[in-house]
Amino acid sequence: MTVAKGGVGGAPIGWDGKTLLEMLEESERLFQEKGRYLGIDQLELKEEDHFRYERAFAKLRGALVAARETALHISASPIVRNIGELCFALYTPEGDSIVVSTGIIVHVHTMSEAIKWMVRNNYERDPGIRPGDIFTNNDPAVGNVHTTDVHTMVPIFWEDELVGWASGVTHQVDIGAHIPGHDPVTPTSRFEDGFHLTCERIGEDEHIRQDHRLRSQRAVRSPLYWDLDEKCRAAGAYLIRDAALRFIAEEGIDYYKRFTREVVEEGRRIFMARVRERLLPGRYRAASFAGIPWKEEAWQPKARRDFICHAPMEIVIGRDGDFFLTMEGASAPGYHAFNCAEGPMQGAIWVLLSQMLVYDGKVNDGSYLALRHYFPPGSWCNAQDPQLSYSTPWAFLIPAFTGLTRCLSRALFARGYWEEVVSGYGFTGDAIQGGGYLAFNGEYWPAANFEISAVGLGASAVRDGLDWGYAMWNPESDQGDAELWELLEIGIPYLARRVKADTAGYGKYRGGSGWEAVRLLVGNRDAELYIGRADGPTFMGPGVFGGYPQATSYRLWSRGSEIMDRAAKGQPYPLGDDPDTDEFEELAGGEVMRRPAAMMMPEMFQDRDVLHYVLSGGPGCGDPLERPAQRVVDDMNGGIFSERIAEDVFGVVASRDEGQERWTLDEEAADARRQEIRRLRAERSLPYEEFWQRERQLIEEGQLGEPVRGMFRESMGLSEAWAQEFRAFWKLPEGFEP
Ligand code: MN
Repeated sequence: MTVAKGGVGGAPIGWDGKTLLEMLEESERLFQEKGRYLGIDQLELKEEDHFRYERAFAKLRGALVAARETALHISASPIVRNIGELCFALYTPEGDSIVVSTGIIVHVHTMSEAIKWMVRNNYERDPGIRPGDIFTNNDPAVGNVHTTDVHTMVPIFWEDELVGWASGVTHQVDIGAHIPGHDPVTPTSRFEDGFHLTCERIGEDEHIRQDHRLRSQRAVRSPLYWDLDEKCRAAGAYLIRDAALRFIAEEGIDYYKRFTREVVEEGRRIFMARVRERLLPGRYRAASFAGIPWKEEAWQPKARRDFICHAPMEIVIGRDGDFFLTMEGASAPGYHAFNCAEGPMQGAIWVLLSQMLVYDGKVNDGSYLALRHYFPPGSWCNAQDPQLSYSTPWAFLIPAFTGLTRCLSRALFARGYWEEVVSGYGFTGDAIQGGGYLAFNGEYWPAANFEISAVGLGASAVRDGLDWGYAMWNPESDQGDAELWELLEIGIPYLARRVKADTAGYGKYRGGSGWEAVRLLVGNRDAELYIGRADGPTFMGPGVFGGYPQATSYRLWSRGSEIMDRAAKGQPYPLGDDPDTDEFEELAGGEVMRRPAAMMMPEMFQDRDVLHYVLSGGPGCGDPLERPAQRVVDDMNGGIFSERIAEDVFGVVASRDEGQERWTLDEEAADARRQEIRRLRAERSLPYEEFWQRERQLIEEGQLGEPVRGMFRESMGLSEAWAQEFRAFWKLPEGFEP
């Protein structure tokens, strides 16, 4: 059953005597010509026997979910075990996803790109693709997000033909970059990004080769986790392969082949039907920004500049279900870790649309095929240069895709789907990273926290956002157990996790709230810690319909804290931070550092140092003055908003008796305060024409800040169309540059 003709010098392993490359080229040609997957007209199997067809989908989908649940117990890494940071998918021979597991499904499309890359580079001829082979990829220039996401892909053979691929991905604890961690912030080129595996064959006969195991375990700082994650991915992929072969034995090979084709085409049709049903046709636009203050902080001389990522997004919805997304006008890539390849951008579209539009459909690459997109070649979001660094593209990608949620929200709202509106999402970016050494035996411990997988979701147009429970890249979000993170991060136990006041975006419907954590270094020496989160100089996308953005983050730590001495005396220690008071300073003692930017470059920490961080909230929807006053008071009682924000932003006045915890609404005072805010707004506002004149003058006289001018110059240099539109909008002379 598993003896193939293919492999080095063998006969083709594709269907009907074709090579895989011929199959891929034919698939792309048919899609180009007919606009349907493989030119399929009729969903024959679905029409012939609907129940068998749906049962077949459920059978494969169930096998993938079960494979993931089983495989994750093989991994030892808390990133995989604690929050399930892995996923699996089944692909066609050409690399189109047919059915996917739960989990971090942003990677379903990136693995598709890796399979297509192997097919395009004719791996069938060299190095050969044979039953029992195991391939791995983590190269961001081959469709992956960053080196930290490692794919394992196994071919599925039935008799002499390759009938598909089973593939899994996990996010590593460490990837052997020039600083420890999984989303390194300091690299400026590929040569600092860590260990690269560019679609390599790492195993034969269902056995991972020893030379690969020895090499890879020496390439990272946490070899045990690497090894067990690799076994987890291979085991999951083999569970899926075996399920596919069982399916073929039960349903027949002809049914399998036709079914896997039809179901991708059906996925495409479902997507288009949802677009027609839920989105009002039209042109929607949004812009996002991510500022990086690196003039002083960057390590390498060439990286020392303050700059802003410009992420303009435009979506055109046609009447017939056509969906076109373009980022014409995006700014340039550079000497930093935040460049992005096209594959992850495609993955991000796919993962968000899977959640916002086709969550009840058949989630596979059909929805990817249903839309057209343009990521400008040579821009930060399609850099096309393998020698750049792609360590942490999330720093730009996550803010950029709040544009998609805002555009879709307007299109959904306009059709009357108010409950489907999502004003945005939190920044999954305040994970501490790095590592240290235990003082008593010198053992290395990695800091690789993934509690960022539970931030605030944006508000809809009928309800508040989900509190501390969302990640845009993993619909199964989970903050994980602190105790399990501590098993990994053994030198820096938790002092506290609690709700962080004022992180939720303000609005009639508020964003989901964020939270904060306080960690104490104990029994440790020489911990090198950092945090990758690109807000502070900019916020990461506003809310919608008058809602506000969520709070940006900031940095706070104490060196040489007095917590151990205070604890010995039974005195309290900080459970969080209220920036309106000096409570943290008083309770932590030591030398306290506060800074408004969120990004934290590597810093050395020693025993008794305390590190604080904030997990983001989500943006709001609608005018905060329209939020029922009692709900704001409820928020105050839940620790979501402080008294200052309730009064200044929501115009809600509440009081509480001395020593009491519960706030009570003062209705009269609140009415007066809201009137007052409305009066202030009227006083401060300008007619649009005046605003436009004022801004135009700043541009014309060159009064924009250097990072803003640099950003506009990059966008104009990369796109003549964007440059012309910019000049036309501001009525600037031909050839004008900011
Ligand atoms: Mn990753």
